[in-house]
Amino acid sequence: MLDVLRKPRDSSKNVSPGASCYMLHRKFDLALIYGFFNHDKYATFQEWREVAKLATGALVTWKELHSVPKQGDSLPVETAIYGALKECLKTYFWGKCAYCESEFDSVAWGDVEHYRPKRGVTEDPNHPGYYWLAYSESNLMPSCQRCNQGKGKRNHFPISGIRATQPDDNLSAEKPLLLNPYEESDCGTGAGHLHYVFEFSGWELLSTGRVEGVTERGRTSVELYDLNRRSLVNQRRKHQVQAINALRLAANTSPTALADAWTMLFSADQEHASAVRAACSAWKANHKGEFDRATAGGT
Ligand SMILES: [Zn+2]
Repeated sequence: MLDVLRKPRDSSKNVSPGASCYMLHRKFDLALIYGFFNHDKYATFQEWREVAKLATGALVTWKELHSVPKQGDSLPVETAIYGALKECLKTYFWGKCAYCESEFDSVAWGDVEHYRPKRGVTEDPNHPGYYWLAYSESNLMPSCQRCNQGKGKRNHFPISGIRATQPDDNLSAEKPLLLNPYEESDCGTGAGHLHYVFEFSGWELLSTGRVEGVTERGRTSVELYDLNRRSLVNQRRKHQVQAINALRLAANTSPTALADAWTMLFSADQEHASAVRAACSAWKANHKGEFDRATAGGT
């Protein structure tokens, strides 16, 4: 899983190759996500699904009747239907944005984001949008506004395969260039599409807070989710610095303290957990002797 960080040959500031990393992966599991569904308008999640199914059928019919776009046409999506899932989605993702892992719940409403955009596709102006997935649970995830609006994803959905344009088309043939947090092969520990960048000052490991794409999909995701915006990089770096300081302190305390710190820092529910894990792994690789001595043979 880990890339081995090269130590600098001199005291100048070097850019490391980074530790392999990933975005937050959350398995798509209806029972886990919606097991505690609670909403004033729907008695049960099953009732919501029935409503969503009817609403999807209404959108498909509307599209059939509006196959030739006219000025003023607007897909009649009912935001309240998919919006009813927001609380479950936020809870399942620990109050974090599915793309950038920022905790947004205390300061913003956040969006119920459509991975495949419902109203149009920036990369294909003639595409009608994935209207038939407007209420599809596997297409919905929580997002902060910064990832989803402005310079963020909006209606982008680049692919390298064959574009699906209607409900019966094969989505798996699309080969999306944007990483999907529900897909382990995209965002799990072995995905390898991204890495966080660390530097050295002498022998000292420094966090930059920046993330880079290793693959085309990784690079596209960094760009379109706007994952290197300044405020996000600063916040990410802050968490990484805290993690490295905690490990350094624990290593000088006791093996138990180091083991406890390691476990705590690998907690998935914390803000920027993936970046923190990468920092821990980079620190371990860069302080292997120190780590092994503290843990009397390693963990
Ligand atoms: Zn975000």
